Amino acid sequence: ETPLNPEYTFENFIEGRSNQMAYASAFAASEQPGGLYNPLLIYGGVGLGKTHLMQAIANNMLTHNPNARIKYVTSETFVNDYVNSIKNRSQEQFRQEYRNLDALLVDDVQFFASKGETQLEFFNTFNVLHDNNKQIVLTADQNPKQIPNLTERLVSRFVWGVPVEITSPELETRIAILQSKAEEEHIQAPNEVLNYIASKVNTNVRELEGALMRVRVFAELQKQPLTPQIAAEALQGLGFATETTLSIDLIQKKVAAYFNINQSDITGKKRSQNIVVPRQIAMYLSRELTDSSLPKIGKEFGGKDHTTVLHAIDKIEKNISSDSGLEKDLKNLRDELQV
Ligand code: ADP
Ligand code: MG
Repeated sequence: ETPLNPEYTFENFIEGRSNQMAYASAFAASEQPGGLYNPLLIYGGVGLGKTHLMQAIANNMLTHNPNARIKYVTSETFVNDYVNSIKNRSQEQFRQEYRNLDALLVDDVQFFASKGETQLEFFNTFNVLHDNNKQIVLTADQNPKQIPNLTERLVSRFVWGVPVEITSPELETRIAILQSKAEEEHIQAPNEVLNYIASKVNTNVRELEGALMRVRVFAELQKQPLTPQIAAEALQGLGFATETTLSIDLIQKKVAAYFNINQSDITGKKRSQNIVVPRQIAMYLSRELTDSSLPKIGKEFGGKDHTTVLHAIDKIEKNISSDSGLEKDLKNLRDELQV
């Protein structure tokens, strides 16, 4: 049995679009165990907060009721416990342990795959708990329907309640997570440094936090203040930075699709308003989201002069504060570009 980490709470979990369904469902399940959100299954890639949320459920249940009987295990522990119980002829005890509970939390159920006999035992455990309105919480690294060698009946149970997906956090959430982490760890990092790290590390939260720590240590060793330049040096060549840095080409494609025009319009010379604005937006985003210089951007936009690019950026910047539609378009596009 794995002890709970008391630091995994709802309070210090940063919500964003990528995790708010998971957060809300987890919170609801912990407030009303055995209720509507039973079983609750949270699935998604590594380092996105599944274990954190799962343990937050347990921690919150325990603050409401310190006597609640809650068991938190990984599916591997369940497998081992079951195998040992057969070896030691202690299956009765095993069943007592796993069935006399108010909540059973099983992390990473993908490891049940191919474990035929254990899957049957877990199926029975699940049914007993569920029949008694006891809360079941599960996590998986992907949609259970996609996990190979998981028996059909387990899959159907897993998705009975509310399967919720958790995805990579978008830029704003990544910044908020870094701010919270910096505060927690008493790291005095200017916002521009946090913004820089958040813009470069867009894989998962664990790597994001790792990057912040690395930057901190690097600056300390170099006896340098925390600046974006130092952060860049610290993260250089570590594979932290996004695998696929955004290309201007991709930005043009996304912007064109978003406004229902052709990429050739974006790079072309037409002066009609329904084309000029998307073109300016694409230039603006190219400047913001890539390392390209103004002349380079101009070149990729059909060989335009760098002053044209500068003008476009100025224009967008000037209009953002007064034009909420524009602000929204930019936000949607950034989201679509996954930064
Ligand atoms: P998973 O179980 O999905 O692999 P974890 O729950 O272990 O991911 O999360 C990895 C790390 O990131 C943990 O330290 C966790 O506290 C942190 N974390 C993940 N998501 C968030 C979030 N939204 N807000 C704050 N911390 C988070
Ligand atoms: Mg986990």
